This record gives sequence, C-alpha cells and structure tokens, in this order.
Amino acid sequence: MMKITFYDTKPYDREWFTKFTPVDDYKIRFIESKLNIDTAVLAKGSEAICIFVNDDASAPVIDALYEAGVRLILLRCAGYNNVDFQAAYKKIHVVRVPAYSPYAVAEYASGLLLSINRKIHRAYMRTKEYNFSISGFMGMDLNGKTAGIIGTGKIGRIMMDILRGYGMHIIAYDPHPNPDIEAQYVSLDTVFAEADVISLHCPLTPETKHIVNEEHLALMKRNAILVNTSRGALVDTKALIQAIYTRKIGGVALDVYEEEDEYFFEDRSNDIVEDDELVRLMSFPNVIVTSHQAFLTEEAMTGIVTTTLANAEAYVKDDFLANEICYRCIEFGKCNRNETRKNCF
Ligand code: NAD
Repeated sequence: MMKITFYDTKPYDREWFTKFTPVDDYKIRFIESKLNIDTAVLAKGSEAICIFVNDDASAPVIDALYEAGVRLILLRCAGYNNVDFQAAYKKIHVVRVPAYSPYAVAEYASGLLLSINRKIHRAYMRTKEYNFSISGFMGMDLNGKTAGIIGTGKIGRIMMDILRGYGMHIIAYDPHPNPDIEAQYVSLDTVFAEADVISLHCPLTPETKHIVNEEHLALMKRNAILVNTSRGALVDTKALIQAIYTRKIGGVALDVYEEEDEYFFEDRSNDIVEDDELVRLMSFPNVIVTSHQAFLTEEAMTGIVTTTLANAEAYVKDDFLANEICYRCIEFGKCNRNETRKNCF
C-alpha cells in the first residue's frame, strides 16, 4: 500500500481526495502545513507526497525529501515553477495534472474582466449598504475592442473563444504559435501597444518572469485592463503600482500575486498584513485581487483528483508515467524517453 503525504491541504482537498481514493490501495495523510525545508521531514515513511502551487520544492527541500524516502512528487496542479527539476532528476519522479478544466480558469478570467470593467464588485458592496448610486461605475463596451492574449495554450484558447463571443478582436503572442487555432499572432510589444484588454495565460518561466514590467506597461494604451489568472510573478508588482498611480491603467484584475504564498488560501482577517504592496494594490478602486481561485470548480477538482490518483497508480504499477516532467522535458521539449525507457529517468 502506497503512503502519500498531502501538504498544504484545505477542507476541499480533504473532502475530494477522500471521496475518490481507494482505501485499500493508498494510505493518505493530510497535513495543513506547506512543504518547505522545515516540514519536509513530515514525509518520512511516505513514498509519495502531493503538493500544490505554493509549496516549496526547491533543491534543499528535494534533498530532504529524498533523505526521508520520498520517490514521487504528485503535483495537484498544472504549473510547476515551484519545483527544482535539476535537483529532482534521477532522485524523485515528478508528475503533474497538465489539464483539468481549462474552462474553469478561462471562464473565471472573463468574469474578472467583466467585474473590473463594469465595477460589479463595487456595485455589490454599495447595494449591500442600500446605496443605490451608480456614480463612478462607467465602463466600456467590450464589443469592438481588442483583446491581447499572452500564451495561447489550453486556457488562452478558451479565453479567446469567450472574448470573441463578446465581439472582441483578438491578437495574441506565443513563442510557439499554434497553427490550428484562429488567432492573429503579433509581437509581444504589439500586444501591449494595441490591446484594450490584456489577459495572461503563459506559464511562469525565467523568460516570462515580469513579462508585465515598466517597459511593457509604458507601451499600454491609457485605460487598458490587465487580467492575470496565470502566475503572480508574471507581473512586476512595483511597476504595476506605479502605472496605477500615474493613471496609466484602467483596471487590474489579479487572481494571483507575486508574493501570494504568505497569504493566499489562508484566513488572515485577524492579522496585521505586513505586505505593503499587497495592501497598496488592494486599496485602489480599480483593482480586484482574488485568492488563486480560478481553478475551483467541481469539474476541475474531479479532474485534479482523478489524474493525481492515476499518476500515483501508474507509478505503483511501474507503468508509463504519462504526466511526468523533468528538466530535460522543460529545456529541450523532450527527454530521454524511448521504447525501453518508460520514464524520464
Ligand atoms: P498550456 O501549457 O496549455 O499553455 C501555455 C502556453 O503559454 C503555451 O502555448 C506556451 O507556448 C505559451 N508560452 C510559453 N512561453 C511563453 C512566453 N514566453 N510568452 C507567451 N507565451 C508563452 O498551459 P495552460 O493549461 O493554458 O495554463 C496556463 C497557465 O495558467 C499555467 O501555466 C498556470 O500558471 C496558470 N493556471 C492558473 C490557475 C488558477 O487557478 N489561477 C489554474 C490553472 C493554471
């Protein structure tokens, strides 16, 4: 029976994984702490661990996990920027959930766009207080405007379809353009310069870190809207705050934040929040911050749980690890797999 330690679990993780996990095959231990150098030792006795977006699987943590006997990391998410793959290579297999419900994230991104454009979040707060004034809630028609999509993978493509439904003209940037999708690919600078709405759907990599920076913000149209449901560090928060101060940006909707791991997914309502940039961002009337919830639908949770368990089963049965990823896959687009070698190492 495989033992799996789940890090950074919330009630919905416990509920959904308990519902789907065959009790005869796996012994699961849920812990609330995030994975880091201090908590890695808690995995002792487990061959596998299961982690989420803000767990720290950097090199020293990987070494500590290996020492504790861990041989498999199950990422219950698509993104993998929190794992040091060089350190894991030939020690610990890493598998992920490459797709669960891209609709969940794209639909949420379009919801954020509608909210920030038409101030729906503020209207809700006003009418709760019986304040029925609509002053200050002027928005723009999306119909006829230009949307710039950065990253045209699974989620970006669906976002494009949704925005087309609003009557928007779509331009896109992706270093690997997909010939199968109907998109007008342009340069990154052109996306920033011509779009009325920019939505980020690329992964966080060394190339994309701070892709929204001072230089690109300066190119943006005055009053354009930025939506980020991808990863926080795609945006240089200091530069963004400056662009908001200078009235350059019309609206910003963020489901992710550069330094989110300290706060997101936690109830900090009784604490003094010490992250001045987060507090500053949230103080602006034209900014919405939500707590990395774009994935949270029943369909997405079902996909996450079933793929994670299928990944574990493939490892236990010594089958092909279809969702394995290693530094070679990332750097070269493929690794050493062949007919005889089923897995990355
Ligand atoms: P995907 O792998 O299907 O697509 C990513 C696309 O980004 C690819 O087409 C790739 O070529 C492109 N890309 C790579 N480097 C780029 C660059 N430098 N500039 C522009 N594009 C680049 O991934 P996906 O399933 O569409 O997910 C996209 C991202 O969404 C994930 O990496 C993850 O960070 C984020 N995400 C967020 C949530 C949430 O709850 N907020 C949930 C799931 C995924």
